Amino acid sequence: MQPIRVLVRGAHGRMGREVVRAVAGAADLRLVAAIDRVGVGEDAGRVAGIGPANVAIRPPEELEAVIRAEDPEVAIDFTKGPEALALFRTAVPLHVSPIVGTTGLSAEALAEARRLCEENGIGGLIAPNFAIGAVLMMKFAQEAARYLGDVEIIELHHERKMDAPSGTAALTAKLIAESRSAERAERPEQLDEAPGSRGSDQHGIPVHSVRLPGLVAHQEVIFGGVGQILTIRHDSIDRTSFMPGVLLAARRIRGHKGLIIGLENLL
Ligand code: NAD
Repeated sequence: MQPIRVLVRGAHGRMGREVVRAVAGAADLRLVAAIDRVGVGEDAGRVAGIGPANVAIRPPEELEAVIRAEDPEVAIDFTKGPEALALFRTAVPLHVSPIVGTTGLSAEALAEARRLCEENGIGGLIAPNFAIGAVLMMKFAQEAARYLGDVEIIELHHERKMDAPSGTAALTAKLIAESRSAERAERPEQLDEAPGSRGSDQHGIPVHSVRLPGLVAHQEVIFGGVGQILTIRHDSIDRTSFMPGVLLAARRIRGHKGLIIGLENLL
């Protein structure tokens, strides 16, 4: 079997470098192209600290030309928020499957990405969290919410994360809201509440965002019941935690048509 040809977008970033290392270490995948605004002309393998990969980083404006020249089958994107939509617009009509870990895409961007995949009959994935443990955390939280209706989320990330709340927290809240029991504790009307002190409201669930050096990606889902607390916590203590999910997606996405949201829907 020929290895799957992979393009990495955001190859100079923290996640992109991790993806370059992971792809280079997988016998059934081959890095054929790398795109970033930073480090243009540098070897993507050297940037990732693994020695030469013989793939030079090319600038974002050359994405289409790079796809036409290098013929990737999948394009893995860890850039920032709105930038990820440009990948769908360019790559999907050229029959490249996007695998997007970038968070902070708007509902309109998701709708356009979905439309592009459907119109072109191409499989694409947008996953706010590629760590299998985080996927399980969301699944367990959804299950718990059927019995415990009172819940809040604390998400904790490194200080350089640009979006808040995290994509994982927003998705967890959405999944909980879809399955949670109607029973909630009665609450007094809030008085003298400082703005923001109760977090942001995601699908009716308060989400509290912490940004500190030393953190990677962590989340607690806290359920309160009569005389009891249930805490479901996941910690990504290293960016390698995301790589098995990213590689799995690169291997499976070509077997699908249309846009899949969430790694759990590809498993
Ligand atoms: P980073 O800032 O270290 O890297 C982003 C890289 O993208 C930079 O090198 C930047 O120059 C590059 N870039 C920006 N616009 C670009 C474009 N148009 N074309 C090509 N490259 C471009 O950020 P990071 O920590 O690697 O995180 C990247 C994204 O991944 C964030 O949205 C973050 O929330 C998300 N993330 C997702 C998961 C997940 O499991 N889904 C895990 C961790 C981080």
